[in-house]
Amino acid sequence: MVVTDGFKKRLFRRPRIALIATVLPLAATAAVAAEGQVKPFPSYCIDSSIQSQNQDSRVRTLVFHYTAEDLPSSLVHLTEAKYQTSAHYLIPQQPAAGHVYSLVPERERAWHAGVSQWQGVNNLNFSSVGIEIVNLGFPPEDENVPLMERHWYPYDEQQIAVMGRLARSIIDRYQIKPHRVIGHSDISFGRKTDPGPLFPWEYLYSRYGIGAWPDADAVAYFKRTQPYDNNVADLQGKLNRYGYGVPLSGALDKATEEAVAAFQMHFRATRYDGVPDVETVAILDALLQKYFTRELPETPPTSLSVMQSNCP
Ligand SMILES: [Zn+2]
Repeated sequence: MVVTDGFKKRLFRRPRIALIATVLPLAATAAVAAEGQVKPFPSYCIDSSIQSQNQDSRVRTLVFHYTAEDLPSSLVHLTEAKYQTSAHYLIPQQPAAGHVYSLVPERERAWHAGVSQWQGVNNLNFSSVGIEIVNLGFPPEDENVPLMERHWYPYDEQQIAVMGRLARSIIDRYQIKPHRVIGHSDISFGRKTDPGPLFPWEYLYSRYGIGAWPDADAVAYFKRTQPYDNNVADLQGKLNRYGYGVPLSGALDKATEEAVAAFQMHFRATRYDGVPDVETVAILDALLQKYFTRELPETPPTSLSVMQSNCP
């Protein structure tokens, strides 16, 4: 930068300006003191009568879990401070009269996701609602056997009906997109297996319009025209595009197999061994085409239309 004479003069004048600035408040204070009366700090008013269209909900994802324990233990672990875990809702087994526990208000952050990633966003606790469903998952002796060999416990009919209605309400209120209705295993693959391969994703989609599901004819089309040819880099790119935070290594590494298994448990629960095959990748192609080729604009939640002002 070339320093001109004029600039030097302005630099030189700065201390004097600063001096005046420090003197003025003192003078004002003296004036107030001279009157013997201190004016109260001016208050403020909130005018919300003009609302920007450029906003969306802080709640952007809905995450399903199973508790892996019974109701009494779940209530203890999800509520007592020493366990450092929680969820917004807890659905018991065979909930009498649709009884659901609301353990954390939706406006607050529940600690249900832990280390997690979806669509490039980390720590989903900040932007999600979490629903825990009482289900034991699988017997403890199955802990170290492959996913396909575990004996998974089914969800009961009443639980499914309750989770359908509850999730529908949450999705409507926050305008959560289908591909952001996910399971814990989707956002923490390799570390978590809930809500497991018996979670009724297809039924929730067809009965309540909840979450994403591929169209059968699109899957058949992709199987026929673009069958998976062991291009792992391409598969990793597609998994990333859908939401799975899999490393783009180009190799069929452990993380990629775990992400594929999580994807299969969600969308192709007849085989979830983590081995990518033609059908798995065709399902992924169909989902990308259905939900990502024509991204719809965000719809503001209905509460945004409330206009208020307490200003005169
Ligand atoms: Zn979980």
